[in-house]
Amino acid sequence: MIGFRPVTQGEHLYVRVVDIFVNYDHALTKSIENFRNGSFVGNRSEEFADYFVGLYYFNLTARLVKTAKSILCDPNGNEFTYRSSFLTFLANQCSISEGQFGRANVNLLVNLSFEAALASGQSISNSTKNIVRASVPMLECYICGKSLFVNPVDARDAIEYEHVWPSSYGGDSIAANLLPACSCCNREKGAMMLWQDTWKHSLILPPYPSANDLTEINRPLKIALHRRRIFEYAVQHSLTLKDSALEIGPADFSAFAPMDLTDAADFFTIQF
Ligand SMILES: [Zn+2]
Repeated sequence: MIGFRPVTQGEHLYVRVVDIFVNYDHALTKSIENFRNGSFVGNRSEEFADYFVGLYYFNLTARLVKTAKSILCDPNGNEFTYRSSFLTFLANQCSISEGQFGRANVNLLVNLSFEAALASGQSISNSTKNIVRASVPMLECYICGKSLFVNPVDARDAIEYEHVWPSSYGGDSIAANLLPACSCCNREKGAMMLWQDTWKHSLILPPYPSANDLTEINRPLKIALHRRRIFEYAVQHSLTLKDSALEIGPADFSAFAPMDLTDAADFFTIQF
């Protein structure tokens, strides 16, 4: 499930969180497997298992970055007190202790959390923007495919630089983590880390949806579906998220439809 190639501090932290989850939390792993293999959620077992696993990863990764940022903000702190505060947080709030997971693992988790916190919120240099533009086949939004311009006639066509792994969760402002995006997709995607953290699993279409119902699928939901594909493709082919997004290409925002017109209703039936 980890599989994709991490390039930012936030992604390295995420990979370690997943590793700890898979290797150490056997009870949780077992219950997720039971859930995945069950048939008790109306033909959605696999998707719901992925949903809950993603929420777990997102929740823990996000809490570690936010907590590291908060600890680093203490003006009276030093390396020793930062580490001590973080170990207390891990033990008390996350049930992760050196005794249980090993000193090396916990040290790595602490260091990666601080690195991710420091990588958050960096500005994007002009030279990095130049490299990003040179790294893509054409200047278009990587999410919706809209054509973009450095000096647009209409401000809505201006190129923006989107952090594929969100800046606020340790996504470095480096070319390997940036892609051109339109202002609309950049704003709507915001700090989306995994598709699961957007709470887009709920009922969004009526059963037997009409053509009109399909046009009302909103942009954040389409972005979440696109993001789900980026992750799946990156894992299958051991790519970075950026390279996966470039290989998949933008989503056709007019082509979203349920797999089965006689079912629909929830996120998991929609594809493009
Ligand atoms: Zn767009």
